[in-house]
Amino acid sequence: MRVLLVEDDRMIAAATEQALRDATYAVDCVGDGGSAQLAVNTQQYDLVLLDLGLPRLDGFHVLRHLRDNKIDTPVLIVTARDALEDRIRGLDAGADDYIIKPFEMDELLARMRAVLRRHGGSGSPVLSNGEIGLDPASREMNFEGVAQRLSAREFSLMQSLMLRPGAILSRQDLEDRIYGWNEEVESNAVEYLIHSIRKKFGNHIIKNVRGLGWMVSKEK
Ligand code: CA
Repeated sequence: MRVLLVEDDRMIAAATEQALRDATYAVDCVGDGGSAQLAVNTQQYDLVLLDLGLPRLDGFHVLRHLRDNKIDTPVLIVTARDALEDRIRGLDAGADDYIIKPFEMDELLARMRAVLRRHGGSGSPVLSNGEIGLDPASREMNFEGVAQRLSAREFSLMQSLMLRPGAILSRQDLEDRIYGWNEEVESNAVEYLIHSIRKKFGNHIIKNVRGLGWMVSKEK
């Protein structure tokens, strides 16, 4: 899951970025509205975490830019406690939810999961294709009687596949979903993750499509 964090307060940005990484998200961080617009034009995100009070172009501009350009990435806005009007304006402009500063990281992560779940069209917290069950809150995966907690990267890879059962994801697709801008990616990182997941759950949990990439089975 790749997240764009738009926040001009460096302290909040650093703390949030770390918490998101710890929670297995790939995070790109920008500090103003113009950079945010550039980022969403060039990279596909699963979620945008958007502070409204930003230098130069504010968060409302970024939100409008997204929706005017038919980019339907879910947006979680971050606002001040007393800014009721901003929250209403943000939701009406196409934001999916909001969180009030100062916030607890656990609440932020839970709201992000809820927004992503609704956006994926599923009310259930557990991702499932009928064979594999993957719980984003605990990072536990179930497959053919085996239940194990995944590492952060393993979870990130499985989540990318499980959000599109039956779709083939290339190495590049997977790297984009697992790693942010500033993270170095080893050339065989994706293969290594797949190998370690197969070791725990069996080879056929992830299918190879020769020359194209990998997939999990479509719901039966
Ligand atoms: Ca701000």
